[in-house]
Amino acid sequence: MTRSMARSGVKAGVKGGGAHHGTVNNDGRRVPRGKAAGTPRVTLIPGDGVGPEVIGAAVKVIEAVGVKIDWDQQLAGAIALRRFGSPVPDRLIDSLKSTKVALKGPLETRVGEGYRSINVYLRKLFDLYANVRPVRTQAGVHTPFRGVDIIVIRENTEDLYAGIEHQVAPGVVESVKIITARASTRIARFAFEYARTNHRRLVTAIHKANIMKLSDGLFLKCAQRVARDYRDIEYKEQIVDAACMRLVTDPQAFDVLLLENLYGDIVSDLCAGLVGGLGFVPGANYGKHGAIFETVHGTAPDIAGKGIANPVAAIKTGALLLDYLGHGSAGDRIRAAVNAVLRAGRVVTPDIGGKAGTTDMTAAVIRALK
Ligand code: NAD
Repeated sequence: MTRSMARSGVKAGVKGGGAHHGTVNNDGRRVPRGKAAGTPRVTLIPGDGVGPEVIGAAVKVIEAVGVKIDWDQQLAGAIALRRFGSPVPDRLIDSLKSTKVALKGPLETRVGEGYRSINVYLRKLFDLYANVRPVRTQAGVHTPFRGVDIIVIRENTEDLYAGIEHQVAPGVVESVKIITARASTRIARFAFEYARTNHRRLVTAIHKANIMKLSDGLFLKCAQRVARDYRDIEYKEQIVDAACMRLVTDPQAFDVLLLENLYGDIVSDLCAGLVGGLGFVPGANYGKHGAIFETVHGTAPDIAGKGIANPVAAIKTGALLLDYLGHGSAGDRIRAAVNAVLRAGRVVTPDIGGKAGTTDMTAAVIRALK
């Protein structure tokens, strides 16, 4: 993918990992931006469940902020399976290969049956190894927690998500956890570069190396080696179960979290709970050559089609996309508008105690754009 990370909001250069300097926005923090050039072509994947509702909201806000994007809309997941007989049609892959950047809605993955996760497949296919999820307390959204400001950085390409599972004998199955020094080192370097560029103070590696001495032990060793190159940033380690407890008793003790794939997935949702729920947390998957922007939340089948999904996570994900495309000031305007609507608390969705629908809340964000 040719679109360089140098066009997104935060420097996230990965020295030694072979990556270049780029910018990954820190959800509202002022950071160096790239320069926009021409009308970018971006693959748009509405997704399943609430996907079309919230991605539609993000697209409307991007249009309203005045950034022109040439959207190449493609289907993936359950809807693509019904329409084209495959959850990852060739035309989707061709589009991603050509645009190298996507705004993507959540895709359904059945529990215990059906095709493997298309999300995991796409992240691996395009080697989008760094999943970044900024989680911040939001004024106007009432939760028992204050002052949460955590960046979850999750390794995206291996661990148990390698999907290597087989039946050894009837009633006995094996799932293989793959951890490599290469992937562990590059995600650690990404996390420290992110921390340095964004003036963050601490990287905490989360692990279970007391039990998985070889796999998580290797992940930790790689993180420790990388940490030595970043003496300006504090480095700590914490066992995942204790970290989960501490996250809900003392979330301010954390800053940047560095996690393997599975712990990263679980801890992301835990962190979303600290700031009001899954409707708030944006996300991005970055690789050396491209990026896919997607919310932390899934298809929310319980509310899909009801028009009440919180559009904030998707709208803020759209703002991260704009940072990446070199339209950081437009991204900031979107974040400011979202913050204003949440602070006012008048036009908000039921997940945060309001009565507004997705469309009304999106319209309120557009009205709040300055
Ligand atoms: P989910 O994130 O879809 O929903 C969990 C809970 O959060 C639900 O109660 C839901 O209503 C609520 N929620 C989620 N988004 C919301 C929003 N924008 N506004 C208000 N409430 C919201 O998780 P799940 O139910 O475990 O998974 C459903 C499906 O989504 C599964 O098929 C799963 O595989 C898929 N999934 C996809 C992705 C992705 O595409 N990246 C991520 C997570 C889950």
